[in-house]
Amino acid sequence: MHIQALRGTTDLLAPDVARLARVERAARRLAKCYGYQELRTPILEDAQLFLRAVGETSDIVQKEMFRFKDRGEQDIVLRPEGTASVVRAYLEHNLHKTEGFARLLYLGPMFRAERPQAGRLRQFHQYGVEAIGSHSPWVDAEAIVLCVEILRACGVKELAVWLSSMGCRPDQERSRAALRERLRPRLSTLCKECQGRFEKNVFRVLDCKHPACQEMARTSASSPFLLCGDCQTHFGTVREGLTAAGVMFDDTKVFARGLDYYTRTVFEVRAKGLGAQDAVAAGGRYDHLVEELGGPSLGAFGFAAGMERVLMAAGDAAAEAPAPARQGVYLAVLGAALMPQAFRLAQQVRARGMLAVMDPEGKSLKAQLREADKWQCRFVAILGEKEQQAQALSVKDLEQGTQQAIAFDAFPEAMAQHAVHTQS
Ligand code: ATP
Ligand code: MG
Repeated sequence: MHIQALRGTTDLLAPDVARLARVERAARRLAKCYGYQELRTPILEDAQLFLRAVGETSDIVQKEMFRFKDRGEQDIVLRPEGTASVVRAYLEHNLHKTEGFARLLYLGPMFRAERPQAGRLRQFHQYGVEAIGSHSPWVDAEAIVLCVEILRACGVKELAVWLSSMGCRPDQERSRAALRERLRPRLSTLCKECQGRFEKNVFRVLDCKHPACQEMARTSASSPFLLCGDCQTHFGTVREGLTAAGVMFDDTKVFARGLDYYTRTVFEVRAKGLGAQDAVAAGGRYDHLVEELGGPSLGAFGFAAGMERVLMAAGDAAAEAPAPARQGVYLAVLGAALMPQAFRLAQQVRARGMLAVMDPEGKSLKAQLREADKWQCRFVAILGEKEQQAQALSVKDLEQGTQQAIAFDAFPEAMAQHAVHTQS
């Protein structure tokens, strides 16, 4: 029996890795321009972190966490999202004391035990940012602009930014009561789960994937969030910031974010052509999480984007790799006795940052030349008896169509001059 990858997990082969790496590069490059610094947190976390941060009634905690007992001892989860971990790390390393306001970027795999389907995996990849230590609405606007810029750089063209404010905690109390009143007459039309959510966490109804519930949420005439004066002003400045930066947004959509920690600004970026799973990125402000995880009372804002969905939304734009230039050298070796010499020369070329490939199997010259062709190497260097005696390789430049003898001593440098250093 063949063992296969688990449902909802994928192997990323070289072309997939190249596509994903392009998204990662765009995220890193642009986040840096906005002053964000990268951090990496563990994939394994204490289950309590998410129970406390994300909330007991969230879908993530209720049904999506890969949670297990570590040898019967610790209650562990494979991280389902990044924000809780980043805030934990921020506090654990006293960044609130040393840095105060911190702009942090993370990238990596996340895990959710969801029903696998197009755009919904059990192990997927996110990049995300967290700006911790400020209540300023300019922070929200700046991060949303960054989010859109990264998506554009990745080739996502048709995107819509949904923007809303869920208000502060007292606002949310009032909004909850009002939303229940609004929904009560239509309670029986909501899905079973939402009927439960109605009492426990009514905002979740606005985030439900069930068509009837979505219909209900989206046909609501007005935002269900009642904002106090301060929250209205805050939200106004976020919109002002986005307008100043030339980022279009839609603030008429009725939606909520499914995690407990959100307050005030929330947003989602939706992309054309993704079908039901059309959210590529989402985030918002969370002004109580730092305190709830044992830190001081600090405002914060963050977003996360799903890299697989970004790639789907970018479509061909992301698949377009620049035509690879011929690069590197294929060392064709004629006879086992010459292997040590070829091995040494290849090593010296690589030490100078250039691709050098050789055949470990002792294949025929013809087979090796076929291999060289497959590698699309710029040079083929042949090492046979004749070359060994002359202490010089026969080197073909397949780009220029020339051939010359290059002395062993001069070979590594001669090759290095043509090195195409790949970006990492
Ligand atoms: P959805 O509404 O699609 O379930 P979500 O609200 O659960 O998304 P977030 O927790 O906000 O998603 O995560 C941010 C982004 O991560 C999403 O916009 C999406 O691009 C991506 N994402 C979330 N869950 C998955 C998944 N199971 N597979 C692939 N990507 C995902
Ligand atoms: Mg989800």
